[in-house]
Amino acid sequence: MPQHDLPALDLEHRCRSLSRRVAAVAGTIFQLEDDQYLVAALLVHDARDRPTARERCIPGDRVGVRPQDELAVLDDLRGRREELRRSLVVGLVQGGAPRARDRLRRVGPAPTARRQRGEDGDDPERPHRGSLPRVDFELTAEQREIQALAREFAAAEIEPYASDWDRAHGFPAELLDRLGGLGLLGVCVPERHGGAGSDFVSYILVLEELSRADAGVGVTVAVHTSACTLPILAFGTAAQIERFVPPLARGEFIGCFALTEPGSGSDAGALLSAADEVADGWHIRGRKQWITNAAFGGPVLFFARTDPATRSARGVSAFILDGTQIEVTRTEEKLGLNSSVTNDIAVDAVVAADRLLGERNHGFRIAMATLDGGRIGIAAQAVGIAQAAYDVARRYALEREAFGHRIADYQAIQHKLANMSMEIDAARLLVLRAAWLKDHGRPHTEAGAKAKLFSSEMARRQTAEAIQVLGGYGYTKEFPVERYYRDAKITEIYEGTSEIQRLVIARSILGRQELVATPSR
Ligand SMILES: Cc1cc2nc3c(=O)[nH]c(=O)nc-3n(C[C@H](O)[C@H](O)[C@H](O)COP(=O)(O)OP(=O)(O)OC[C@H]3O[C@@H](n4cnc5c(N)ncnc54)[C@H](O)[C@@H]3O)c2cc1C
Repeated sequence: MPQHDLPALDLEHRCRSLSRRVAAVAGTIFQLEDDQYLVAALLVHDARDRPTARERCIPGDRVGVRPQDELAVLDDLRGRREELRRSLVVGLVQGGAPRARDRLRRVGPAPTARRQRGEDGDDPERPHRGSLPRVDFELTAEQREIQALAREFAAAEIEPYASDWDRAHGFPAELLDRLGGLGLLGVCVPERHGGAGSDFVSYILVLEELSRADAGVGVTVAVHTSACTLPILAFGTAAQIERFVPPLARGEFIGCFALTEPGSGSDAGALLSAADEVADGWHIRGRKQWITNAAFGGPVLFFARTDPATRSARGVSAFILDGTQIEVTRTEEKLGLNSSVTNDIAVDAVVAADRLLGERNHGFRIAMATLDGGRIGIAAQAVGIAQAAYDVARRYALEREAFGHRIADYQAIQHKLANMSMEIDAARLLVLRAAWLKDHGRPHTEAGAKAKLFSSEMARRQTAEAIQVLGGYGYTKEFPVERYYRDAKITEIYEGTSEIQRLVIARSILGRQELVATPSR
């Protein structure tokens, strides 16, 4: 990316007025693409008086940039954080959209840029392309390949049996061996730790495909991966990662995540399970409820209170337990998602000191970070379920006749299908955006909550519409849409209910300190 020196006079004056701490300023123009320019103000702070994180990013409106331009350019700045770090980058001055470009000329565009763009700065051959120059909706070749692999496997090996597994309340254990053999139980785990070494977007694509065939299989893989394997990878010591992650990523064990208790779900910080330090480790006691995958006997990410003086999220720690250290006390009967297993568990065991994951009393952060990513997976699950329902409804509408015409010829049915298609598209985009943000190490709490909230409510709405398109057949077990409807409902509940997602979003857009109650989940 070529850089040009910027006549910084005007810029310097404007930037200096923003902060008394600024000791020097340098301006740089980055030519982003053919007709896009970014003017970044590199505000160099006095070394003895370093800026706070908040001050490193000056809102665009204070330097006269429209919000939409600001977003695009800030995105770019963040993407090139490493490149710009040496200068303590604080913010942008102008972006590439027309109004901003006008201001750019006032500041003084770089001579080479002026030459490229003609005398008056406009290039008639290059039309303005909007203020989001970096948006790219194409999946990479690798992502498409993984998506196709999951789709083919799910269509051949899962979907034809899903109704039977729903009735039987379980799928054959050998399915997990086959998923493991294909690398689908460790998609986004690095190869050196036994995984397929792909990214989070690829993992999300896999979850959508598996859930499209059978949501129970989807949640089994989701909990195993993003609620057990990934937190160990993110927060574990080298020894913990080496010990637990490769067997999980290869699918030799199926992991689970044990946070919810009979008395605490959304308010997970009120949990009562306790871990007392003893001579040779920790004595852990407690009961957990509705733990997906517990019956598989694999590692359990278990949350317990290590500071008995607390009653809130503070004082909770995370532990990695073996399946043999817990007792499965019950298997839950559910409305849907029947092929996945949901258990109550009890623990009364002494575990070694090295089973503590992360810092003592800081386990709740691990739980919340886990749910931040996990929610994106549940959102993908919802999209997969809705897509399956849409596929059946569309096919049916093109075949079923009433009053001498296919029902697809009636506008009422067309509108239903159009709405389904549109909402599925919108949900998928929210999901992919959240996954992309996570892949790029960017904040994704709000984006993930929006993706889950919209996708899950959309899936519940649209699976109901699919039943409507099929009429009476939709209500029977002859077609799978009644299963999709039952399966979709759970996506509004687990990994944080819709009410809690709205709180997460509100906290993000209003600022945590503005809110009196800040529920934990
Ligand atoms: C099939 C299934 C699988 C699950 N798998 C797991 C798992 O693997 N691991 C695990 O730890 N947990 C698991 N769970 C638990 C799940 O995450 C919880 O059910 C969920 O977090 C909600 O908690 P709750 O059911 O106790 O509802 P509650 O917290 O009791 O909420 C009841 C209602 O009150 C609302 N509410 C609560 N607080 C507020 C508030 N502050 N503002 C507004 N509304 C509020 C809720 O949104 C909900 O509508 C599973 C649950 C199910 C059903």
